[in-house]
Amino acid sequence: MHNDISEILVSEKEIDHICTELGQTLTHDYKDKNPILIGLLKGCVPFMSDLSKKIELKVDMAYMSVSSYHGGISSSGDVKIKMDLDISVSGRHVIIVEDIVDTGNTIVTIVELLKHRGALSVEIATLLDKPEGRTKPYVPKYVGKTIPKLFVVGYGLDYNEYYRNLPYVGVLKPEVYTSEESK
Ligand code: 5GP
Repeated sequence: MHNDISEILVSEKEIDHICTELGQTLTHDYKDKNPILIGLLKGCVPFMSDLSKKIELKVDMAYMSVSSYHGGISSSGDVKIKMDLDISVSGRHVIIVEDIVDTGNTIVTIVELLKHRGALSVEIATLLDKPEGRTKPYVPKYVGKTIPKLFVVGYGLDYNEYYRNLPYVGVLKPEVYTSEESK
């Protein structure tokens, strides 16, 4: 698995530091509130786990499964809800926990949906931001690290469902996906 990675972009140590810093900021910004953390499956899982432990507030944790990639390396632009929330967001402050914001399609769609359902506020905490990939204008409020327009895997991020369990974020060697696509 490690041999398929050309470069480590965000190390385990850096991820730990990002979670601590963002956790402290969210603890400060949401003091006196009990926000709902909504993780977007499956990519959010390691980040949701590590970030939530650094937030010193009573929070609800809920999950949605949405899809815009359908297994490839670029967004289809068509956001599908595969699994919906099991709690109401009406009258609640929501923090969406995302692995990465690229085109903005996923986040813009979900923010609009949750506001339509009556959320008092909706913000994003994303581990990674790729602003050069944006096709819809959106500036996430809480960003762990801004990265260039590269396809990355690890720490929740997959290529064809693999590499999510890498403890760091890395760049996949192009030959890995070109050889897969030619199969
Ligand atoms: P957006 O809707 O902003 O284009 O993309 C958001 C979703 O696309 C992310 O939650 C993630 O699942 C996927 N995505 C975007 N960029 C990357 C990337 O570099 N690597 C991987 N593995 N997934 C990505």
